[in-house]
Amino acid sequence: MKKTVLVSGGAGFIGSHVTVELVEAGYDVVVADNMSNCDMTCFEGVTKIIGRRLPFVQMDFCDMEAVNRLFEEYHIDAVIHFAAFKAVGESVEMPLLYYRNNLLSFINVLEAARTHGGCNVLFSSSATVYGEPEELPVTERSPRQPATSPYGNTKQMCEDFLRDAVKAYSEIKGIALRYFNPIGAHPSALIGELPRGVPNNLVPFITQTAIGKRECLSIFGNDYPTPDGTCLRDYIDIVDLAKAHVCAVSRMLDGRMKEPYEIFNVGTGRPVSVLELVTAFEKVNGLKLNYRFAPRRSGDVTAIWADPTLANEELGWKAERSVEDTLAAAWAWEKHLAGK
Ligand code: UDP
Repeated sequence: MKKTVLVSGGAGFIGSHVTVELVEAGYDVVVADNMSNCDMTCFEGVTKIIGRRLPFVQMDFCDMEAVNRLFEEYHIDAVIHFAAFKAVGESVEMPLLYYRNNLLSFINVLEAARTHGGCNVLFSSSATVYGEPEELPVTERSPRQPATSPYGNTKQMCEDFLRDAVKAYSEIKGIALRYFNPIGAHPSALIGELPRGVPNNLVPFITQTAIGKRECLSIFGNDYPTPDGTCLRDYIDIVDLAKAHVCAVSRMLDGRMKEPYEIFNVGTGRPVSVLELVTAFEKVNGLKLNYRFAPRRSGDVTAIWADPTLANEELGWKAERSVEDTLAAAWAWEKHLAGK
């Protein structure tokens, strides 16, 4: 029998790519989203890519009654939880909003998973839990550092909620995936990142500068103790990242977990500097980007990249796309948006 996966926050950037990969792997998918930080562009893109309309529920995961109704209507075998706010700076300005939304929604998901006959839960966590790491690359055993923002704190707390819930309730099994820097877009250019207002993240800022929506990219800091002075990150292609979710979900549903709660880094293992990324974008897309060096952005870590060995070996997953292909896809998506 086909298994059903609920994707909370499934109309967003990562959720929409994960939805496509789940459908292509043969799962039934229910998409739920409160549309607080996106429009229907990506959901409609998913419909075009897979050639049919998936069940879509507009709802807020902070509303326990709505979550219960959803779990009553569908037999959910696994839930992938993306429904959360994600802007670091905003979380510093509005901590209570972030705590209420990100924590309550996940508590409700766990409660429903427990009370509706049991369920597998995949939580979308972040490499932000490692803070400024003392040793690189980071493994899953690298220590978590105290969070530097309410957003980062919600990621750590939700990991702990999942760990504790799995320990207490045998009905729940859980995996936390710690993403490094997801970038790019689907090769169809029908789904991608759609930031509201001025982008915080590097790649949307690059593509918006290239298309003329922004005048100039500021590279935050060129005096870091790195080879070219700019920060090092592990940029992971969004489709590769989405495929890691399919591997993790099938591991849970096929009973292949070694522990009832597992954590995996999802990265490439390859550090790339901000300047290298900008140069690669220019080269692969044959254009010049207007950029300048600016002061460091507060809260940025100097360098972080993954040791993805555990995910490679245990999930049977590996990042495959080159940075160049990923940056070409990001540019194709920006041009698709401009042509709309
Ligand atoms: N960055 C930058 N200019 C921008 C946005 C980001 O130089 O307009 C840099 C940022 O300082 C960091 C890297 O790009 O070194 C990745 O930042 P992003 O916000 O995409 O992800 P983060 O690693 O902070 O989660």
